[in-house]
Amino acid sequence: MAHVVVLGAGLGGVIMAYEMKAKLGRGDTLTVVNQGGTYSFVPSNPWVAVGWREPKDISVDLEPVLGRRKIALRPEGAKRVHPAENRIELNDGSSLDYDYLIIATGPDLAFDEVAGLGPEGNTQSICQIDHAVQAKSAFDALVKKPGPVVIGAVQGASCYGPAYEFAFIVDTALRQKKKRDQVPMTFVTAEPYVGHLGLDGVGDTKGLLESAMRDRHIKWITNAKVAKVEAGKMFVEEVNDDGSVKQSHELPFAFSMMLPAFKGVPAVLGIEGLTNPRGFITIDKYQRNPKFPNVFGIGVCVAIPPVGKTPLPVGVPKTGFMIESMVTATAENIAALLKGEEPKAVATWNAVCLADFGDEGIAFVAQPQIPPRNVNWSAQGKWVHMAKVGFEKYFLRKVRSGQSDTFYENLVLDVLGIKKLKDIHLEAAE
Ligand SMILES: Cc1cc2nc3c(=O)[nH]c(=O)nc-3n(C[C@H](O)[C@H](O)[C@H](O)COP(=O)(O)OP(=O)(O)OC[C@H]3O[C@@H](n4cnc5c(N)ncnc54)[C@H](O)[C@@H]3O)c2cc1C
Repeated sequence: MAHVVVLGAGLGGVIMAYEMKAKLGRGDTLTVVNQGGTYSFVPSNPWVAVGWREPKDISVDLEPVLGRRKIALRPEGAKRVHPAENRIELNDGSSLDYDYLIIATGPDLAFDEVAGLGPEGNTQSICQIDHAVQAKSAFDALVKKPGPVVIGAVQGASCYGPAYEFAFIVDTALRQKKKRDQVPMTFVTAEPYVGHLGLDGVGDTKGLLESAMRDRHIKWITNAKVAKVEAGKMFVEEVNDDGSVKQSHELPFAFSMMLPAFKGVPAVLGIEGLTNPRGFITIDKYQRNPKFPNVFGIGVCVAIPPVGKTPLPVGVPKTGFMIESMVTATAENIAALLKGEEPKAVATWNAVCLADFGDEGIAFVAQPQIPPRNVNWSAQGKWVHMAKVGFEKYFLRKVRSGQSDTFYENLVLDVLGIKKLKDIHLEAAE
């Protein structure tokens, strides 16, 4: 009889709980520890920030849905994980023991690494729902009093798709309000070229995104290091390939949203053997921590090395499909351990992403993540916006109903040679 704990009930943690529950025996128990009792669908945050969604539209009260599946919820949140003692210290001072722990805490947002960055400083964020709500007030102020907009992702960020998405969504929202003509827009990114996305491009993401930005009158600065942000002004150093400063820019703005770099959450940061220096969970190919073999990691909180050298640090994105694949492999591997077998399931970390522009969008599939690839495909069209809405509805229905099948499995991409997108494969332990 084992007690499995999932730490974090975000996009990865909730489906992890459902898939794990389906694999546990009668006497086994499952607990989800989260910061609060509400799930919210992060990919819809850009829509919240321009008023296309209300927080309630994309949120789910976890207690009843987990309770129906006999999964316990501890909404106190974790203060610290103690992997050597197989226990989690919760924020209310209590302690929770586990036999197996799956860490799914997502990112901590490193706004502090750039002076003046973030919602407590001078730029907006869409990383969390409360940030998106705050960004909506700033967006309303922009509509009332139009001025320049700066959107992008700073050095060390690993989540570029949502930055592009948000730039195009703001463009669409401003056009709908007939204010776009009064708003010069600049996209600022640490990527070496538009469409790199932390993946050295996928298909023709460079061409597609550059063309879409030209078409929508969005200027861009790549290889951009944000030095500091003051109220209404961003100081950006555009660097050469060797990292030396090529040109300094002072960008005035009436509204700015910049994605920060990510790091590990305080509950795990600095635990030797569990995390890398930035606090990401180190895992082997079975999603398992090498030092603490009853601890697994899934989602944005796991350590993945960058795909190649770039003048400024550019991290690899962890998208929904990749995370679903990590979840399935982890459930298989813990189930194997519970049966006294060795873990064998390996997640295929393919990157599949739908980047919405509000009226159309770009989709890409990178298989494997690191080039050269077997599948390296990107496409643009109105269908991407529809597919993104479908992803939102499908995922929220899944969370509410406790299903564990996946959106991507049902999205037919057979033509690309990917039949079962949530694919994992089995490899004998070394
Ligand atoms: C704005 C934005 C848009 C995105 N859009 C897409 C998209 O369209 N498609 C796509 O595939 N991917 C997208 N992503 C990337 C990725 O899919 C999401 O970031 C996804 O939410 C990551 O899932 P996760 O489970 O790793 O982390 P999260 O969903 O962030 O969940 C982490 C959970 O852990 C909890 N937690 C943190 N610390 C603690 C603690 N100490 N104790 C207890 N609980 C804790 C948090 O409260 C949260 O509930 C997007 C990312 C962002 C930021």
